[in-house]
Amino acid sequence: MSRIVVLGGGESGVGSAVLAKVKGFDVFLSDAGCISEDYVATLNKWNIPFEQGMHSEEMILNADEVIKSPGIPDTACMVRKIAEKGIGIISEIEFAGRYDTAKKICITGSNGKTTTTSLIYHLLKQAGMNVGLGGNIGKSYAYQVATETHDIYVLELSSFQLDNVYDFKADIAIITNITPDHLDRYGHDMENYVKAKFRITRNMSKEDCFIFCSDDDITVNHLNKIVVKAQKLPFTQKTEVVQGAFVKEDRMIVRYKEEECDMYLQELALGGRHNVYNSMAAALAAKVMDIDNDAIREGLATFQAVEHRLEKVLSIKDVLYINDSKATNVDASWYALECQTRPVIWIVGGTDKGNDYSSLIPLVKEKVKGIICLGLDNKKIHDAFGDLVSQMHDVTSAQEAVKLADSLASSGDVVLLSPCCASFDLFKNYEDRGRQFKEAVRNL
Ligand code: ADP
Repeated sequence: MSRIVVLGGGESGVGSAVLAKVKGFDVFLSDAGCISEDYVATLNKWNIPFEQGMHSEEMILNADEVIKSPGIPDTACMVRKIAEKGIGIISEIEFAGRYDTAKKICITGSNGKTTTTSLIYHLLKQAGMNVGLGGNIGKSYAYQVATETHDIYVLELSSFQLDNVYDFKADIAIITNITPDHLDRYGHDMENYVKAKFRITRNMSKEDCFIFCSDDDITVNHLNKIVVKAQKLPFTQKTEVVQGAFVKEDRMIVRYKEEECDMYLQELALGGRHNVYNSMAAALAAKVMDIDNDAIREGLATFQAVEHRLEKVLSIKDVLYINDSKATNVDASWYALECQTRPVIWIVGGTDKGNDYSSLIPLVKEKVKGIICLGLDNKKIHDAFGDLVSQMHDVTSAQEAVKLADSLASSGDVVLLSPCCASFDLFKNYEDRGRQFKEAVRNL
C-alpha cells in the first residue's frame, strides 16, 4: 500500500488526509504546530494517525508522496528534507483533482477571488446546477471529493495552492488581476508570483476557456510570452471585444459564441468599478456554462456582498460605516476609495507588506478628510499622507478607531475601514479585525 504523508493539519491538510484514507492509502498527517480541536475530531473519526507540535522524520521520510498544505513554505526545514530525498510534493488541489471528474471552474488573482468565486457559485446554484464551492473558501475541495458528489466545482485558488499542481486541469480558468502581493513567498520576485498565478492554465486544451482582465498589463504581458491553448476570453472596461465582456456606456455586455447578454451597471448588486470587473468575469463563466441571460441578470442583481468586502455595516446619524477589512493590499483599498462618493474618514494600517502608497495619493486628496491609523507602526502612512489631510490620528484598537471616527465624522460622511495592510499586529486575522470593527459600530 502506498504511503501518503500530509503536512499541515488545517482545512486543506485534513481534507487531503480524509480523501487519501477513502482511497485506501496508508496515511499519516504531521503538523509542527497545534491542530484545532475540530480537526483532531475529524482525524480521529476517520482513524487517521497524526502528530502535532513536531515533525518526526522517521514517519515522514518513508512517504511515497507528500501533500503539502499551502501555508507551509518551500523553505521549511522538513519540506527541504523531503525534496532532498526525492519524494514528490503535491498540493491538495493536485491530489483531489486525480479523483474528480466534475467540471472545474477555477479562480485565482491578487484581488477579487472570493467575490468572483462566490458570484459564479451563486449564478450556477440559482440555475439549479449541482455545484460545489471550495478551494480557499469553506470546506476543502479534497474533503468534498471524498464525501460528496458534484457535477461542477467552483474553486478559489491562491497562488500558494497553485504552487504544487502538475497534472490538475481547469475547464474554465480565471485570473481576476495581478498586482504585487505575498512577494515575500516568491523571493521578492514579481515574475515568480505571476508564474505561480498562471499555473492555473496548465494542461488546458482548446476546448477549455481562459478568462482574464485585458486592462491588466501584468496579465497581458505574461500572456503574450506563453502559450495558453484554451480559448481566451478577455473582460475589459476600456474597449469593445468580439468575444468576452466589456462596458459600453452604462451597460456591461457579454459575448460568447453567437450569444450576447447585457445588463445595466446600475442593476449590479455589488458597487464599485472593481465589482464591475468581477461581475463581468462571473457572467462570462456563466455564459460558457450555458446559463441563460435572465438567470445571469437575476443572479448578479441579487447577490449579497461577502462579509468584510466593502460591507455596509450601519448608517448612524447619516454617517455610513463600511467594513472592507479584507483589503490587505494597496490595490484593494484603491478600489474602495475610488468608489466612494461621500467625504471619507479612512481607517487604515496594520502589518505593511512592503506597500507603495503613491497610487492612493490622488484619491486621498480628492476624497479623504481624516485618517485614523489602526496599527502598531504607522510611520509609512504618516509619511505618505500626513501632508494631505487635516486630521491624522493613531489608535491601537477597533473600538478606539470607531469612537474617534464618530467624533470626526459629520452627517453625509463615510467611515471606511480599508486597511491596505495585513492585520496580524493587532488582530488574529482580517475577519477578527472586521468583526471587532462591526461590533464597535453597533455599540455606538
Ligand atoms: P481575494 O479573495 O482575492 O482576497 P476578495 O473578493 O476577498 O478577493 O476581495 C479582497 C479585497 O479586494 C476587498 O477589499 C475587495 O473590495 C477588493 N476587491 C475585490 N475585487 C477586486 C478587484 N477585481 N480588483 C481590486 N480589488 C478588488
